[in-house]
Amino acid sequence: MRCLKCQNSAVITLQHGALCRNHFLSYFEEKVFKTIQKYQMISRDDRICIATSGGKDSLTVLYLTRKYLEKNNIPKETLLALAIDEGIDNYRQTTLEDLKKFCQEHDVPLQIVSNKEEFGHTLDEAYPIVNKDSNKKPCNICGVWRRYLLNKHARKHGATKVVTGHNLDDEAQAVIMNIFKANTKLSANLGPVSGVKEHDLFVQRVKPLYFCSEKETRLYTVLMEFQVDFTECPYASEGFRAHVRDMLNDFEHKYKGTKQGIINSFLAILPLLKEQAQEYGEIKRCVKCEEPANNEICNACKIKEALQHG
Ligand code: SF4
Ligand SMILES: [Zn+2]
Ligand SMILES: [Zn+2]
Repeated sequence: MRCLKCQNSAVITLQHGALCRNHFLSYFEEKVFKTIQKYQMISRDDRICIATSGGKDSLTVLYLTRKYLEKNNIPKETLLALAIDEGIDNYRQTTLEDLKKFCQEHDVPLQIVSNKEEFGHTLDEAYPIVNKDSNKKPCNICGVWRRYLLNKHARKHGATKVVTGHNLDDEAQAVIMNIFKANTKLSANLGPVSGVKEHDLFVQRVKPLYFCSEKETRLYTVLMEFQVDFTECPYASEGFRAHVRDMLNDFEHKYKGTKQGIINSFLAILPLLKEQAQEYGEIKRCVKCEEPANNEICNACKIKEALQHG
């Protein structure tokens, strides 16, 4: 295979043709920078937290956000990488070590917040107890606690944006999961820029890798020689998401462009979903922890309570 731009040997075949190493790297970076600009994800006055784990998506988004700031002469002094240590044995310690090195090399301060310190339990400890009564899977607990901690600590840092490494595959999976489970309300929160309306207690989340597939992001990290451990979280295969992911990969293999098709259709209806969501109830403050909540007690505190009774 030859690159469609320069005829050198190609490293990837995309829908519009094959690309060599250098042309792929510039195609990928330009796509990310255009996404940031199109959706006004970053402005000069923003104070930015990057949600990181040390995995390939988060290192890529960290690297490219920093590059975007440099390229546009936006001050980087307030940039902070924020990581959650969920407490997952034989997994998270390795990615956090990679992350520490990466942040040092790229001169980005890093803050690590742990489930153990915040909720008294690691995910490994919490899951069997909570699961006994509620049938909650590890990813349900992990997701609720992660969103909670990211928002809380980004806000404490004075952040106006949280940059996340969600890619096109993640988003296509989330769209389909919400459709299968009839979670229209949750879908309104998806999209390149999260949230339905501005709220003092919520820091807006933005996704610069929104249009980059898993395959492209993986190749980018390999070509850039980022030190990444591609091992999956041991819980990844247990959730509903894993089934949806396998199904979409199978479809993509047979019908190229399926995932992009899901994203395009979703973006076409997203304004309607956001408009409808304006009518949902006001955000309250959790009576236990004062963080934002849809009900009297927030989901993170509900899990914490289940642990006390478990
Ligand atoms: S796979 Fe599930 S448990 Fe593992 S880090 Fe992701 S959300 Fe958490
Ligand atoms: Zn080329
Ligand atoms: Zn709470």
